[in-house]
Amino acid sequence: MRFEHETLPQRVCFAAGEAKAMLAGKVARLHASRVMVIASAAEAGRAEQVIADLPGVYRHDEVVMHVPVSVAERARAAAIAHDVDVVVCVGGGSATGLAKAVALTTGLPIVAVPTTYAGSEATNVWGLTEASRKTTGVDDRVLPVSVIYDAELTLSLPVELSVASGVNGLAHCIDSMWAPRADPINGALAVEGIRALAAGLPAIATDPHNVPGREQALYGAYLSAVAFASAGSGLHHKICHVLGGAFDLPHAQTHATVLPYVLAFNSAAAPEAERRIASAFGASTAVDGLERLRQQLAAPTALHDYGFRSTDIDQAVEAILPVVPTSNPRPVTAEDLRRLLDAAQRGSDPRTMTTNPNARSRS
Ligand code: NAD
Repeated sequence: MRFEHETLPQRVCFAAGEAKAMLAGKVARLHASRVMVIASAAEAGRAEQVIADLPGVYRHDEVVMHVPVSVAERARAAAIAHDVDVVVCVGGGSATGLAKAVALTTGLPIVAVPTTYAGSEATNVWGLTEASRKTTGVDDRVLPVSVIYDAELTLSLPVELSVASGVNGLAHCIDSMWAPRADPINGALAVEGIRALAAGLPAIATDPHNVPGREQALYGAYLSAVAFASAGSGLHHKICHVLGGAFDLPHAQTHATVLPYVLAFNSAAAPEAERRIASAFGASTAVDGLERLRQQLAAPTALHDYGFRSTDIDQAVEAILPVVPTSNPRPVTAEDLRRLLDAAQRGSDPRTMTTNPNARSRS
């Protein structure tokens, strides 16, 4: 064994129904007296439930997906004007993303209360968008100091969004297996994340008010994000980053659609990862496990449903090819990407990707 692994410092609490008390305790630990609460207007009700015991609350509700720079600047100015000493975010990846944008320039600590399975709260990755271009970066200042996972706050997340967000979590796990800094530790977290998400998501699809199912999904989402933050972006994330930024496709749904094609493309060239992913799904092959679960969950199937056209493929290939990670288990050509995007655009059976006669491993 020869590897170097970094573990990010963060306090993580799982406690269904206890977010209010937990949050007051975490803010008190930071000796904070003025708290900026970031939660969108849509999340106001959920935020109210948990912030009632906080001191000196300033509410900020301008939350926009992918954090436009102008939105970040207004939030930063408000944090300074209100002289806050901690930022609390309640909501999905968009609320967490705005809190990170504030922390990036002010250095303020974040306490995150996530209400989706996006997982941003467990990474030190920030993202900002300007003129349709998304920029991401890594900075330890944006890693929330504490995260409170209260499954009861996710009971209202509609099944369709839960599924897309949860399969986005699976994407973090699966892509971690061949990402640039993949190692035995983030691999173990990723495999346990797959197991937990594969157990939790069907329970939610059957009964959205199933708290143990919601807990499993949150636990899997957390593990998936820790694995991803540690292993870095693999081929799948590079593809989705381009699709989200250049074609304005919805984040979770894009990940949920593209994932089986990348898995099918890579699996023959990464037999050990394939075996572990299959085993985590309890299936004979990784692709079968993912496809069986996606069918059970009625997960998104085709990029054309989100506005991606076949005429967009060449532009996407041109943007993805230069950023393909050298760690990918298989070399990736423009023709490979064209086939992959064509299949994902139309929603054809991902198993056709595994039968590419040119498939070859790097080793
Ligand atoms: P989101 O935060 O925009 O939430 C999606 C929708 O769900 C919104 O309409 C929101 O109001 C609603 N919602 C949230 N929680 C709810 C609940 N409990 N009940 C009912 N409705 C609820 O989307 P998301 O998928 O959570 O996050 C996507 C964003 O996160 C993207 O910008 C993505 O780039 C970012 N992200 C960042 C990282 C990172 O490491 N930096 C990781 C993953 C995602």
